[in-house]
Amino acid sequence: MISTSSKSDRFRRQTAQLDLPPRVLLGPGPANVHPRVLTAMSTPPVGHLDPTFLAVMDEIQDLLRYAWQTENELTIAVSGTGSAAMEATLANVVEPEDVVLVGVKGYFGNRLVDMASRYGADVRTISKPWGQVFDLAEIKTALETHRPKILALVHAETSTGVKQPLEGLGELCQQYDCLLLVDTVTSLGGVPLSIDQSGIDLAYSCSQKGLGCPPGASPFTMSAKAIDKLNSRRTPVANWYLDMSLLSKYWGSERVYHHTAPINLYYGLREALRLVAEEGLEKRWQRHQTNAELLWQGLAELNLVCHVEQQYRLPTLTTVRIPDGVDGKAIAGKLLNEYNIEIAGGLGELGGKVWRIGLMGYNSRPENVILLLNALKQVLYF
Ligand SMILES: *Cc1c(COP(=O)(O)O)cnc(C)c1O
Repeated sequence: MISTSSKSDRFRRQTAQLDLPPRVLLGPGPANVHPRVLTAMSTPPVGHLDPTFLAVMDEIQDLLRYAWQTENELTIAVSGTGSAAMEATLANVVEPEDVVLVGVKGYFGNRLVDMASRYGADVRTISKPWGQVFDLAEIKTALETHRPKILALVHAETSTGVKQPLEGLGELCQQYDCLLLVDTVTSLGGVPLSIDQSGIDLAYSCSQKGLGCPPGASPFTMSAKAIDKLNSRRTPVANWYLDMSLLSKYWGSERVYHHTAPINLYYGLREALRLVAEEGLEKRWQRHQTNAELLWQGLAELNLVCHVEQQYRLPTLTTVRIPDGVDGKAIAGKLLNEYNIEIAGGLGELGGKVWRIGLMGYNSRPENVILLLNALKQVLYF
């Protein structure tokens, strides 16, 4: 039996104005949003077929092509988070029985395996310990053995902090006549990446990590070769919401209604991408690298060890080993409660073993690095 007084307490809380602490989000995402993105998002919505909104969509497509360095016609934002765009890549090109080879070296590789299986793929995997990358020879051997229709890899493994080198993969996939699918969720906008130069056929990302926008509108791109596979399907795409043969009619010249676009998120994504273009990709990549190096140096001065070898370390996400005898969860809790700084713990195999620190998009700034290092020093040593 709920007492009248607790009921009225709850009512008071529920109807109070939203009041959340000003967190500094230095975990694996979401990251803090650039103030200009928040301002853009408060623009009153227009209709999703209004010519002025269709122009905004065109601008998003062009800005995305720049951010991803691609000329792919089918470059859009999927309504949903990164996982929706991830599912869109597989849903559109996988047909039952297709051999899909997934390189698993962390949590998100496993998610690709799960999703591909749900679309009836004959999934084969190669694996690496969490914190390592695949080399080209290992991938070549696996392509030779499995002869897949699709090779799927995670560029920036947010669960481990490694950056998978992409050099040579495109040529290899061409040679073995398979599509190259790459998860760029934690690399777009922060890590050097060129879809066309790398010969990537399918890629997806999110809005809340390297782009510094709230979650919910997720970049997706598909090459002409991947579209050929979509067009020659024997079976319809099993996912109606993410079917590119339908969505491309809304994003393309036909402008056919599919679902109502999340209008204000598009305003935010456009502004976030405009910030990328204003800064310039090279400069933005360099900024992420410089601030990550500042973090790594500071961590070393605190006697903390990074989990990943420096040459394969992501500038957007660093995994730090929790020292023996230290309660990692308690430290992260103190950072949150006493300093308003969010960092995360490890996932899967690395659960309880590492902290994960993100410096993504708007958050990749020296003042955030210094703020975190000072707070970490206090909670660890004082
Ligand atoms: C965050 C993340 C995803 C999932 O994105 P959501 O926006 O959380 O759905 C997928 N892959 C990688 C590598 C990620 O870091």
